[in-house]
Amino acid sequence: MRVLTDGLKDLLFPPRCHGCGQQKGVRHNLLLCSSCRSLLSPLSSPLCSCCGAPFPSGEDHLCGICLRDSFAFTRARSLFVYKEPVSSLLLGLKFGGDLGMLDTLSVLARQGKAESAVQAPDVIIPVPLHKKRLQSRGFNQALLLAAACFPKWQDRILTSALFRHQPTVPQTELSGMARRQNLRGAFRTGDVESFAGQSVLLVDDVFTTGSTVHECAQILTRAGARCVEAFTVARVLEH
Ligand SMILES: [Zn+2]
Ligand SMILES: [Zn+2]
Repeated sequence: MRVLTDGLKDLLFPPRCHGCGQQKGVRHNLLLCSSCRSLLSPLSSPLCSCCGAPFPSGEDHLCGICLRDSFAFTRARSLFVYKEPVSSLLLGLKFGGDLGMLDTLSVLARQGKAESAVQAPDVIIPVPLHKKRLQSRGFNQALLLAAACFPKWQDRILTSALFRHQPTVPQTELSGMARRQNLRGAFRTGDVESFAGQSVLLVDDVFTTGSTVHECAQILTRAGARCVEAFTVARVLEH
C-alpha cells in the first residue's frame, strides 16, 4: 500500500532533485539524483581526534588548533563536507523553511551512520536560536536535525537546557576571533538539573570555526555537564 501511495505521489507531483532540480531518478524520500549523490563528500578518518578536521593521510591525531587545547567540547564530528548538495539541503531547510529537506537529510544521516559517529549520549541539546529568530523562522533547524539524525534517541533531546539570550550577528558575516567575541555571553543555561553529571551531545547544522559549539560546550560544562561532544551535519573546510 505504501509503495502504491508513493508511486502515485511521484506521478502526481514529480519530485525534483534538491541539488540540481532535475526530476529523473528522484524519489520522495531521498530528493537527490544519482549525480548529486555522487558529489556527497562524507567525512571519515584520518581526522583530528578532537575537532574532526580531516587529514589527507595517516592516523587520527590532534590538529595544531586542538594541541593548544582550544575547544571546550571533547570531540566534534560531522557527516559531510559543507558543499553541494548538502549545502543546498541545509540552506533550504534553514532559510526556505522547506521541511521536505529533512527527510532527505535523515536518510543521509542514516546512510552516514550518524549514531555510530558519536558516543551514545545521556542527553542531546540542540544549539538554540534566540526567541525572536525562532518566532520569525517558526522552527529551530538544530532541533529538527537532532530528531532527524538520531531517531533512536529522540527522547533524550532537551529543549529547556540551553537558551540564546542575546540576538547575535549571523556568524556567517564574521570571521575568526570576531565569531568568538560575537558569541561571548550569548547563551545561558536553563534547566541545569536535566544535564548535570550527564554526557551531552550538542547538535547544530554546520561547523565552521567551531566557535558556536565551543561556547555552548563551555557553558554546559561550567554548569555541571560531565562531558560535551558536538555533532553537525556538515563541516566547512578551510582552504
Ligand atoms: Zn541532482
Ligand atoms: Zn582539531
